[in-house]
Amino acid sequence: MPKDFLAGVKPQYDVIVVGGGLAGLTAANTLARAGHSVLLLEQHYKLGGLASWFRRRGGHIFDVALHGFPVGMIKSCRRYWNERIAERIVQLKNIRFDNPMFALSTTFDRQDFTRLLTERFGLEQQTVESFFDAVRTMNFYDDQSMTTGQLFERYFPGRADVVRLLMEPITFANGSTLEDPAIAYGIVFSNFMSKGVYTFQGGTDGLMRLIAEELARNGVDARPCCPVQKIKVHRRCVQAVEVAGRTIKARAVVSNANLLGTIFQLVGEEHFDADYLRQARQVRMNNSSTQVYLALRPGEMIDPSCGDLLFSSTAPAFSTESLLSREVTSRTFTFYYPWMRPGTNRCLVVASANARYEDWAALGPEEYRQAKQVLIDQTIDRLEQYVPNVRSKLDWVECSTPVTFARYTGHLEGASFGTKFEGLAVSRALPEQVAGLYHAGSVGIIMSGWLGAVNYGVIVANEVDAYLMNNNSSPQQACRKQELV
Ligand SMILES: Cc1cc2nc3c(=O)[nH]c(=O)nc-3n(C[C@H](O)[C@H](O)[C@H](O)COP(=O)(O)OP(=O)(O)OC[C@H]3O[C@@H](n4cnc5c(N)ncnc54)[C@H](O)[C@@H]3O)c2cc1C
Repeated sequence: MPKDFLAGVKPQYDVIVVGGGLAGLTAANTLARAGHSVLLLEQHYKLGGLASWFRRRGGHIFDVALHGFPVGMIKSCRRYWNERIAERIVQLKNIRFDNPMFALSTTFDRQDFTRLLTERFGLEQQTVESFFDAVRTMNFYDDQSMTTGQLFERYFPGRADVVRLLMEPITFANGSTLEDPAIAYGIVFSNFMSKGVYTFQGGTDGLMRLIAEELARNGVDARPCCPVQKIKVHRRCVQAVEVAGRTIKARAVVSNANLLGTIFQLVGEEHFDADYLRQARQVRMNNSSTQVYLALRPGEMIDPSCGDLLFSSTAPAFSTESLLSREVTSRTFTFYYPWMRPGTNRCLVVASANARYEDWAALGPEEYRQAKQVLIDQTIDRLEQYVPNVRSKLDWVECSTPVTFARYTGHLEGASFGTKFEGLAVSRALPEQVAGLYHAGSVGIIMSGWLGAVNYGVIVANEVDAYLMNNNSSPQQACRKQELV
């Protein structure tokens, strides 16, 4: 008999959260703490979404998306999760760049970047300070017509080297480009510059264990292996979800699934205004990624001077095109030393690069296999420049592509960082279209990454809480009330 992953589920909840990524998990936890009954349905057998990890023969554990996030994660985890999670967040102090324009090491904060930009790149202190002040005060309500490229041209005209230093890590962190609105860059860059780059000691598996415990403590009914097929809507009011042949009612639904997947697949076009659908169709997915996972034999060490994160590139200058190309010239090496998982003697390296879904999805099976092998071989060649003879020390090697990300998360085009900027407005407007239906998940570059996803989960949970307080009735009654308004 196949296992019934919905055994014991109730026929109705206050809220159903579709998807257990960081935004969905945080929304579920916040709503349960507020006293609502919450069911969380995740299609994968693990919670976490892109915040994922996997084990391989020999006891190696690879983290997929644990490379670095801003210090704000400590405060958010303390507030919206618990102290045990917050206290495991630690700083990565050695961020390195190595490219044909410069090679340097930094703590990646405002003070150190000011030093580098003035002493190493020869810029005026005042120009640097005004740039930092300008980006720090950017907010969502600002003029959104200026692009990041124009912002750099205003402060550092003709300085391709400075653009590379300022842009390359942020493109890696959220897929933003010189053509995206400057505000999307400014907010994320300033978040990092406030105090540098942080990680979670204990790995993603450790984080998810603590998260699952906290969800259980707060009474969230979390069910993995439960792909939602449909979000049911009646007369512009959310009613229920369909999962594994069952219909479970809810007064509100938060979708953590891909924004466009939510609108066009889970709900269906017939439930939205034509204008809204037009706007939704214009939302572009953000880019995807490739990753090469490399585990050294137990006991084989990497010299910590290699750094924690290394932005390594052979491209002559920063360009969006070359960053996305299947001919990878720029990759970020994340070095995981034994301290990352205390008690182990393992060193692992994950090499990540931005990538376009269509470049990989279009390949036939044999071409795909070969392209993956080329990616692995070239990555190891490059890594040997920093870790001599690493090839001979490897115990496990494999790689993932945009096709892998699409398969595991259901994100259209395997998007690593949700949607481009315009997705934010469409996500925010969802409850105006269908009462009780919300979206929380990576959108608009700003609400992306671990910190953005957690914070967006809370923002949306607060809105759902307010909605539930004002509609204290069954889905059907709430719907009728809505019609009368
Ligand atoms: C390679 C890579 C590296 C990254 N590195 C970093 C980093 O270093 N720092 C950082 O801050 N961010 C990083 N990110 C981005 C970050 O991981 C994501 O922005 C964040 O985890 C997204 O969380 P989310 O809640 O928006 O969505 P997701 O994590 O995508 O979660 C969505 C969930 O919904 C589930 N789902 C979808 N459809 C259904 C359905 N029909 N029914 C049930 N469940 C469903 C999916 O299975 C998934 O679990 C990285 C991303 C990638 C891909």
